[in-house]
Amino acid sequence: MTIDRAHATALPLLWFREVEKHYGGFTALAGVSLQVYRGEVVCIIGPSGSGKSTLLRCANLLEPFSSGAILFEGQDITRAARPASIRQRIGMVFQSFELFPHMTALQNIMSGPLTVKRTKRVQAEAEAGVLLDRVGLAGNAQSYPSALSGGQQQRVAIARALAMHPDILLFDEPTSALDPETVGEVLAVMQKLAADDVTMVVVTHEMGFARRAADWVVVMDHGQIVEEGPPALIFGSPTSARTRTFLSHMHSAH
Ligand code: ADP
Repeated sequence: MTIDRAHATALPLLWFREVEKHYGGFTALAGVSLQVYRGEVVCIIGPSGSGKSTLLRCANLLEPFSSGAILFEGQDITRAARPASIRQRIGMVFQSFELFPHMTALQNIMSGPLTVKRTKRVQAEAEAGVLLDRVGLAGNAQSYPSALSGGQQQRVAIARALAMHPDILLFDEPTSALDPETVGEVLAVMQKLAADDVTMVVVTHEMGFARRAADWVVVMDHGQIVEEGPPALIFGSPTSARTRTFLSHMHSAH
């Protein structure tokens, strides 16, 4: 679902308002304002160290921020009466998968529903099976992470995040730690989720994915959003010199 942002009247699902984050004297986020609407895929691109990961971690309450606010369905996530219940609705997929090594793929996917949601085991297992199928790993239910490729592990991690029925999925460079030959299978799964209208915010260096899958592209540099817009605009005719410099570096690096 693509939002006509120029005429958007909907309440953003996730809304960053002037978010600032300092590490000692260093400013990692210098007043970032960004709206994410339900059903959208927002890709965040920009040079290393520009604050992309920090922004996602703030949204998932993994990182406190210094000032500003992050609203989830209009509710300030840091002032919510039950922050844990908001965090449950925001799924996160990390660069390094973070699967439980002593659990099979199926058990990894079931663990959240069983322990956090107190879902019945039969139901959790059935849902985990469906999710494994959705990420193309129906045959790997009993595999341990160590027996899976990086791409397969990341697909299990995506299924595990989906098992909590989040309203939004945040991806922090989900393919950066993968062997090149498994990047495509993870991006294909993400593209399928996008087609299913799963709301996603994706920090990525995969410009091809951003161009194909994003409804909205955000360019960050030095803790600020330097430019944002639909992919055709950002990749076709960026207005910011910093966007152009970044894209030309990405182009020559690939
Ligand atoms: P990106 O995701 O765009 O590569 P990050 O959000 O990871 O950037 O980091 C933004 C900046 O904040 C970087 O310069 C990084 O060195 C700094 N930073 C991140 N985490 C910490 C930390 N725990 N302590 C100090 N500085 C940090």
